[in-house]
Order: sequence, then structure tokens, then C-alpha cells
Amino acid sequence: MAARVMQEKCTGCGACADVCPVEAITVEGVAKINEEECIECGACVDECPNGALSLD
Ligand code: SF4
Repeated sequence: MAARVMQEKCTGCGACADVCPVEAITVEGVAKINEEECIECGACVDECPNGALSLD
């Protein structure tokens, strides 16, 4: 299961996209995860200053 973005918490800062090792995140207003590219590393979940990403 790929990381998920809680859109109501995302400010579109791009911190997640900067740390994603496989460039699976693009920011278009809010972050969007490419579910086929995500390797579930959790880096974006740890990096997000707003707690907007989860991996459960
Ligand atoms: Fe990228 Fe890892 Fe987040 Fe998946 S869990 S979107 S691979 S940083």
C-alpha cells in the first residue's frame, strides 16, 4: 500500500517530494503520490511538518 496524503492537512510545501527517493511525489496544490512508484519507505511521512502523510 502506498503512502497516502490527507489533503485537508497538506499545505503543498513540497517537503515530501524533496525526500522521496523514487520521486513518487508531485505537488499540484497538494501532494500527490504515484502509487505505482512508491516503495513505502516512510521518508515522506517522517518529513511532513503537518502530519499529512500516512502509510497505514
Ligand atoms: Fe516516496 Fe517513500 Fe513516501 Fe513512498 S513512502 S511516496 S517512496 S517517500
